[in-house]
Amino acid sequence: MLLQRPGKIICVGRNYVAHARELGNEVPKEPLLFLKAPSVMIPSGAPIVLPAQSRHVEFEGEIAVVIGRLTRRVTEAEAPRCIEGYTCLNDVTARDLQKSDSQWGRAKCFDTFCPAGPVVATGLDWRALTVVTRLNGVERQRGAATEMAFSIPFLVHYISHIMTLERGDLIATGTPAGTAPLSAGDVVEVEIPGVGVLSNPVTAEA
Ligand code: MG
Repeated sequence: MLLQRPGKIICVGRNYVAHARELGNEVPKEPLLFLKAPSVMIPSGAPIVLPAQSRHVEFEGEIAVVIGRLTRRVTEAEAPRCIEGYTCLNDVTARDLQKSDSQWGRAKCFDTFCPAGPVVATGLDWRALTVVTRLNGVERQRGAATEMAFSIPFLVHYISHIMTLERGDLIATGTPAGTAPLSAGDVVEVEIPGVGVLSNPVTAEA
């Protein structure tokens, strides 16, 4: 099925040990949550635009959960039934601004900073999911859902005790090690085998 614009995009930071360490952090004791504005989402094929305010924009290939129904205060065991499916997501980040700002609203929410899609794949077991990111055809990231510090059912459970999740909401579950800078002219692909390939060219702001 096609991916629709969600009511909200909830992102999880530092959910793979190796990625947390490559940025000089530890995995937090509880999931680290932040939001991306749904209006910055773009489909596969649309360009990621590097903003003039940043000198260092990086890709973050991630597995995104698509919520299937109204979900509030569910247990970890109930969580899989609340998931419609999975899609690919690129949590594009202005790394320099993320480091200089204590809140990440700017670093994570420039227009075009959330490629997602191309489709929502249903009927998959979360344990079988792996995300692979390629920059100009070269593999840079590979992470299995089973390697996450906080599992997909735990994240749905945890977030549902904070805010009601609605049909179509996205949860970006964190990125594995290997994030790297983007330059104009690059092509970045996020693939989840069995789900699809999200491919986006990179351009500089005119
Ligand atoms: Mg991320």
